[in-house]
Amino acid sequence: MERGGVRSMYNIGNCPKCGYIINDSDRVCPYCGENLYPEPTELEQELEKFNWGAFLCALIWGLGHNCWWCLLLIPISLIPYVGIVFTIIFSFFMGNYGNKIAWKYKKWESLEEFRKTQRQWVIISLLITSFLIIIHMFYLGVFVFILQGLLSH
Ligand SMILES: [Zn+2]
Repeated sequence: MERGGVRSMYNIGNCPKCGYIINDSDRVCPYCGENLYPEPTELEQELEKFNWGAFLCALIWGLGHNCWWCLLLIPISLIPYVGIVFTIIFSFFMGNYGNKIAWKYKKWESLEEFRKTQRQWVIISLLITSFLIIIHMFYLGVFVFILQGLLSH
């Protein structure tokens, strides 16, 4: 049983407020005036943004946000040959959904606190990533040094 209005081929549903049948050309409900396409709220906009902290350091960031299934990244990254590909996919997933995950898994005082904490995580993640890059450059340097030594004999 439908309340009010006439069903048409453009019917896209019912008004969330009064239940009146809405056509897809309606911006507001013709019955009660409810805005059918409200602007996304500040929170919704924030949660859509890419989370660089979660992208760069998915595992540590995840554990810091009570997101225990991020531990899956350990076995995933250890899979021979394809592990690195899955790790990159996982990182992009975390970057994309990081804000939504953080908002859901942790309690926040305010949107301001949320933003501030996520900004700090970007710095932490950048430091960890830089440190790992430097360590691996060092390993590469040692490897090249040893190789040169071997080749010169
Ligand atoms: Zn309505």
